Amino acid sequence: MKALVKKSAGQGIWLEDVAEPEPGINDVLIKVKRTAICGTDMHIYNWDAWAQKTIPVPMVVGHEFVGEVVAVGSNVNDFHAGQIVSGEGHVVCGRCRNCMAGRRHLCSQTSGIGVDRPGAFAQYLTLPMSNVWEHTPGIDLDVAALFDPFGNAVHTALQFDLLGEDVLITGAGPIGAMAAAVCRHAGARHVVITDVIDSRLERARALGATRSVNVSRERIADVQRELGMSEGFDVGLEMSGNAQAFNELIDNMCHGGKVSILGIPAENTAIDWNKVIFNMLTLKGIYGREMYETWYKMSVMIDSGLDISPVITHRLPFTEFQQGFDVMNSGEASKVILDWEA
Ligand code: NAD
Ligand code: ZN
Repeated sequence: MKALVKKSAGQGIWLEDVAEPEPGINDVLIKVKRTAICGTDMHIYNWDAWAQKTIPVPMVVGHEFVGEVVAVGSNVNDFHAGQIVSGEGHVVCGRCRNCMAGRRHLCSQTSGIGVDRPGAFAQYLTLPMSNVWEHTPGIDLDVAALFDPFGNAVHTALQFDLLGEDVLITGAGPIGAMAAAVCRHAGARHVVITDVIDSRLERARALGATRSVNVSRERIADVQRELGMSEGFDVGLEMSGNAQAFNELIDNMCHGGKVSILGIPAENTAIDWNKVIFNMLTLKGIYGREMYETWYKMSVMIDSGLDISPVITHRLPFTEFQQGFDVMNSGEASKVILDWEA
């Protein structure tokens, strides 16, 4: 089968012929239909310091996908050929304290598809049955391919009550923009989003942000005054990984404000702990998605009319993957879909 492989240490990714995966007795074999390129894939493509210490080569990369079940192992009763599925890319151990207690998203021994084990940028993928999520029949396949990053947005946004609250999102990348959509859908009043790139802010407004702030020109505190908010934001979502953005977010929270942190800083970030203490803030780190509460909410929100499709900027056949990686590197793209059936 064809697959995009990180073949050797250094920049790039290569379309190769590799052996089709064989499903084990507890696995589901999936024929991949669409995939999306994630920031993690760009780290691997660009072969940065994180990728160098994390990725064994050769490795089939990719973890954002939708496909069709084509075969199941002998122990699998809940899935059958023809179902349209995505999958949780974090394969958990099943035996640690958190897994045993049903808190699988807190597993201390996860292995990631396209990072530690063969990924989804391929014509076929196998996954343990406990990692497979069946979509609502008829779902738009491009949207279905986004459930992994959409899940990051949903899991981060829904940490705290949003109904009637004012939300500040720092970073209007694909995840920040989808989080804006979720916050509006969940009943927030002001959903203010920041970035330094105007096209990203415009896309976030198309998805549901009520006000965007280019922090290279405007201060969030001024926007608060303009909106008549006297006490600060109730909920903050850090989705940039940028230290300055995180600090400006902390500066603009109300007393008792709640902050969930998804963005991954490149290096150690200093924050003013006195503001956290005296403003009585709650800070919560977020990794991945919740298995499978987040997946359930994603399916239901899409069913009930939430539209995240404006986050897709490019659709390409998989053979034109190089163009996809190039537009991702240029910063012009938000989500790039690769079609594995084209
Ligand atoms: P992205 O890099 O596309 O988006 C980040 C955005 O932040 C960019 O649009 C960038 O222009 C913007 N930004 C840069 N400096 C800024 C500043 N000073 N103020 C405001 N915005 C600024 O990434 P993404 O795919 O949308 O993901 C968002 C973040 O979440 C990234 O840091 C990513 O690494 C991280 N992430 C974490 C997890 C997790 O499980 N914790 C999962 C996926 C992604
Ligand atoms: Zn575990």
